[in-house]
Amino acid sequence: MSRFSAIPPAKRLFPALLLMVLLTLITAFSAQHPPRHLQELRQWKAGSVVDEASVRAYGMEHCFAVTTIPDSIFRAMAGKTYRKDCNVPRSDLRYLRLLHRDAKGRIILGEMVCHRLVAKELTEIFRQLYENRYPIERMRLADVYGGDDNRSMVANNTSCFNFRKVAGTSRLSAHSRGMAVDINPLYNPYVRTRNGKLHVQPDEGKRYADRNVKSDYRLVRGDLCHRLFTAHGYTWGGAWRTAKDYQHFEK
Ligand SMILES: [Zn+2]
Repeated sequence: MSRFSAIPPAKRLFPALLLMVLLTLITAFSAQHPPRHLQELRQWKAGSVVDEASVRAYGMEHCFAVTTIPDSIFRAMAGKTYRKDCNVPRSDLRYLRLLHRDAKGRIILGEMVCHRLVAKELTEIFRQLYENRYPIERMRLADVYGGDDNRSMVANNTSCFNFRKVAGTSRLSAHSRGMAVDINPLYNPYVRTRNGKLHVQPDEGKRYADRNVKSDYRLVRGDLCHRLFTAHGYTWGGAWRTAKDYQHFEK
């Protein structure tokens, strides 16, 4: 007779019963406690940091999505990026839900308003950047900064639509049509030399006018961001002749 069969049947069943009880408890617990950040994802609280498990549970297709401009967003845009004289109808604009990772690898809920004609391709480009961990620090609507492009750039905010003139001119910017994107603008500034004097926008990004200065968010020719945008037919401001706009891609 083995030692095992000497144990009474009730005692033999005990480990199995304990395991079953534990499994039931774990299942019940996880049903009551879904991934931590599902709420932020469902409400799409742009700017929130979320974890991988929550993104998986919510579904990637919902994290890279195109919608018409929700009323709440349009109210926030009025008088800021959507100025009184805006000649682009609201129906031509789209609201994008996007994920991005910052240089620390944190997953952040991003948002963007763009023209409907580029909505799908921008969603694809940003999904590629996300999946390949291309660092983007912030991705909020410029309205969060009162529609003020300089404030948005200083915050290193990646954005698209803003019905505004090119700084210092009466010409409308490609951002006015929602067909231009600025990527990590603080570290990839606009640089121009006029009468031997260097002009940098934003001023806070002056040290990055020297493109040899490395940063977590430096955009260079041939990197994934540059390759994706140019492959989709965008021109890069870093390739312009007179002025260099290293953050800027436009169609
Ligand atoms: Zn730009």
